[in-house]
Parts: sequence; structure tokens; C-alpha cells
Amino acid sequence: MNKQASCCCGAVTVELSGTSKLNALCHCDDCRKRTGSAFGHSLYYSKDTLKIIGSKPKTYAIGNEYGNQVRHFCPECGSTVYWYWARFPEWVGVAAGCMKDVVPAPTISACHHNARHWVTIPESWAQY
Ligand SMILES: [Zn+2]
Ligand SMILES: [Zn+2]
Repeated sequence: MNKQASCCCGAVTVELSGTSKLNALCHCDDCRKRTGSAFGHSLYYSKDTLKIIGSKPKTYAIGNEYGNQVRHFCPECGSTVYWYWARFPEWVGVAAGCMKDVVPAPTISACHHNARHWVTIPESWAQY
């Protein structure tokens, strides 16, 4: 079953197929700035399953201690919908909040050492 993800205004809409390879929260400063929230929630799919349905997004390259990332965002409303990360060359990362359907709970808390002190995650999740 195909899944859709889109920006706030809907101009940038993408379709993905298959199951996600990774479902994670990330507490790094860059994910916070991307989302404007305490952490990012991301799903990773096989790169070749992504199909752009709507307008062409703008891109922004960013690098941090975890590697380089190219974010694809809507030039109209500014939402980052998906990105490519050099660390996972086969995958595309998608903002969980942009997914049309309800997504499963994450299983990983990445950059957990940087989590806000009030964030509590289930013990069953892996922490990195
Ligand atoms: Zn938009
Ligand atoms: Zn992050």
C-alpha cells in the first residue's frame, strides 16, 4: 500500500511504498530546528520508492557531526517533507508529521543524550 506525505499547503506531496526501515525520534539540535519542536520524528524508506506527485521542492544542505543531509522543503509554506542523508545512502527520510496516515510508534530514540530533561521514552526503545 502506498503512503503519502505532504507539506502544510499540500504543494509538495510525495508517495512512498513498502514498509519503513527505521522509525525514530531524534533529539539533535538540527532536528529541533527543522521541526521547531523538542525532537524530530522520522521514518526511513527505500530511496527508490519515493515518487514526487506535487511541486518540486527546494533543497537545503546541512552537515553536522552525524554527516551531511539534503533537506527537501516546500518553497511556499516551508515544511521539510523528506531528506537524503549521506549516512543512509539507500534510504530517504520522511517527516512523520507530514504523513497522511497515522504512523506506528517509533522504536528508536536517537541522540538521546541530547534529549530535553522532561522527555521520557519507553524502556523498550533503543537509545543512541
Ligand atoms: Zn507547502
Ligand atoms: Zn536529528
